[in-house]
Amino acid sequence: MEGAALPGRLIWRSARVVEIIEETPRVRTLLLDCPDWPGHLAGQHVDVRLTADDGYQAERSYSIASAPADEVLALTVERIDDGEVSPYLVGELRVGDEMELRGPIGGYFVWSKMRGGPLLLLAGGSGIVPLRCIMRQRAAVMSDAPIRLLYSVRSQHEIIYRKELDQFARNGVEVIYTLTREWPPEWTGYHRRVDGDMLREIAWPASERPLAYVCGPTAFVERGASELVSLEYEPDRIKTERFGPTNDSTIVDRSARQNKSPIT
Ligand SMILES: Cc1cc2nc3c(=O)[nH]c(=O)nc-3n(C[C@H](O)[C@H](O)[C@H](O)COP(=O)(O)OP(=O)(O)OC[C@H]3O[C@@H](n4cnc5c(N)ncnc54)[C@H](O)[C@@H]3O)c2cc1C
Repeated sequence: MEGAALPGRLIWRSARVVEIIEETPRVRTLLLDCPDWPGHLAGQHVDVRLTADDGYQAERSYSIASAPADEVLALTVERIDDGEVSPYLVGELRVGDEMELRGPIGGYFVWSKMRGGPLLLLAGGSGIVPLRCIMRQRAAVMSDAPIRLLYSVRSQHEIIYRKELDQFARNGVEVIYTLTREWPPEWTGYHRRVDGDMLREIAWPASERPLAYVCGPTAFVERGASELVSLEYEPDRIKTERFGPTNDSTIVDRSARQNKSPIT
């Protein structure tokens, strides 16, 4: 069965960390027990709220990494070194800790079997997270939609979900990497940022009416989507999700920060 994103009022729910997986030195997957979780669709996200002892709160959005049918809800977070929330989620949070979640959110950047394909997934860095959920869901519902993933990362060590992507590649997903900062001498794949020539080589022809999902840092998403439009992809079949800098409105009660209690 595909996940149900039950319509209704969004409320904050408590979630407990049951396991932490180190994906790369800067990235952790948090497995969460959220007893009242209403279900979600592949590609949706949640808001996470952390509260410090002095009442200061910070909220950030995170894509749902687990597929709708998975038993445990998962988020995957990349540490942004000068960030406020991600260093805490990646470096401080421990099994047994609690946080609040609100969601699932988003009805646009989602995929379900009836949407079909062919699917072109473009991921930059942690932008792989909702796309992993889509790939898992495609396998879970036994969709035969052809699927191709182009994943841009700084180096091989920063590939998130490497083993799982290898497994997808053995099971019908075409996985193509491009390394943008470091690559080994024997690397024969792409080693530059995603550009028009690369997409001309790997993207499904527009005549096949592909459905494209582009996710990652803002500049990556804007470049990827505009190159796809140049390749005559239909704009309403290009779904984008930007993980760019957080807008101030997502930080609530900033004044309470003066006491500087650690977020717990
Ligand atoms: C819908 C949605 C889904 C998201 N899903 C994920 C996800 O699955 N995994 C994940 O790791 N992140 C995801 N993000 C990004 C996440 O919400 C935070 O923005 C990120 O974790 C940084 O928060 P922070 O508090 O550590 O940094 P902040 O304190 O907000 O920012 C610190 C500094 O880093 C810069 N910055 C902020 N965010 C980024 C970024 N993403 N890349 C580069 N620089 C940045 C800011 O401009 C600032 O200079 C998602 C964002 C959105 C909008």
